Amino acid sequence: MVCIYYNIGLLGGLHNSNAPLRGASLADFPCMKNAYLITQQDYILEYGSMLELPFEKYPSAHRIDVAGGALFPSWCDSHTHLVFAGSREHEFVDKIKGLSYAEIAAKGGGILNSAAKLQQTDEQELYELASERLSELVQAGTGAIEIKSGYGLTLEAELKMLRVIKRLKENSPVLIRATFLGAHAFPNQYRDNPDSYIQLILSEMIPAVAKAGLAEYIDVFCEKGFFSPEQTVLICEAGKKVGLRPRLHANQLSVSGGVQVGVSLHAISVDHLEAMDEESIRVLGCSATIGTLLPNASYFLRMQDAPARKLIDAGAIIALASDFNPGSAPSGNMNGVIAQACIRMRMLPEEAFNAATINGACALELESKCGSLQAGKFANFFITKPIPSLAYYPYAFGSNLINKVVLRGKEIQ
Ligand SMILES: [Zn+2]
Repeated sequence: MVCIYYNIGLLGGLHNSNAPLRGASLADFPCMKNAYLITQQDYILEYGSMLELPFEKYPSAHRIDVAGGALFPSWCDSHTHLVFAGSREHEFVDKIKGLSYAEIAAKGGGILNSAAKLQQTDEQELYELASERLSELVQAGTGAIEIKSGYGLTLEAELKMLRVIKRLKENSPVLIRATFLGAHAFPNQYRDNPDSYIQLILSEMIPAVAKAGLAEYIDVFCEKGFFSPEQTVLICEAGKKVGLRPRLHANQLSVSGGVQVGVSLHAISVDHLEAMDEESIRVLGCSATIGTLLPNASYFLRMQDAPARKLIDAGAIIALASDFNPGSAPSGNMNGVIAQACIRMRMLPEEAFNAATINGACALELESKCGSLQAGKFANFFITKPIPSLAYYPYAFGSNLINKVVLRGKEIQ
């Protein structure tokens, strides 16, 4: 079926190229005012000015009056931990009261708390919880998403998480990428013998994940007190051998060397980057590795934000993602992420839109399918209430401006 969306007040994200945007080009978010867009089945067919609206070319097309609203490509959220067993709001309250990370961990909080809950939760229940979260994100405009394992931390529980992600992939209109994150934290029983957990990852988990075809990527939390740069290399090299491309948690809490390791491994992305020195900024700026910024995490943890402006000035490719997880970023709403990127990290609205659409798609290696409005790509977009300008969207940060969501050409109710 052909659908004509007309009376579009602002049509945005009209890139001609799928190349990731860096430096000054990140501020170029091509838009057209007073436009139409035509879809056929799952795909975008064409778009143009309302002055050339081709109703007569498609006499039997379904016509949708957008009534002056804006139409933007769906968000591409390239870093989430969407599959988890339970929320952790009691830790949130402990943090408000001033408890330290170590005190919270001593009370049974943190990643190991999520792992214990997940190990005890059955696969069907995990799927239902995750599916509900994903539906909520779809209504908030997300059309492509990366989901990590990493709350299993045993062979069986990691595979369980990845099977849940596979089911989401099969049953959701959202484009989904799966990442194996067995190296998220050291389980308690390996505290005194971390090398044997690394061995478990190398000799059992990675081969099993690869054999079952359950992931596209491998991730490591490269951080002081977690996984060292050397351990990160070992794990990622083993992943690469079986076709899992690295993407890393890097430089969240300290200048960990994670950026340099990621670049040397040709990681698709290094994510977080709150703790950056000049050398790490320079290395990333000269590389093809994407720097994925996660302002939800620094906001929720009351930490310093990633130096977005310095990274953009250094020529780095910047993407924005939600980091949706129960401990440090309990929101997957990308509308909030782009608002925070503008408010707290001084990214321009155009830069934030690009970082959360086309550059996010590049970080998912889905840039030929989504991330911009281009003929032949999936008809993945959302329609807003009429807005006076692009900048109004992150500016009105508390308003839900989305009227309609379309994925693969179909309106999502
Ligand atoms: Zn994360």
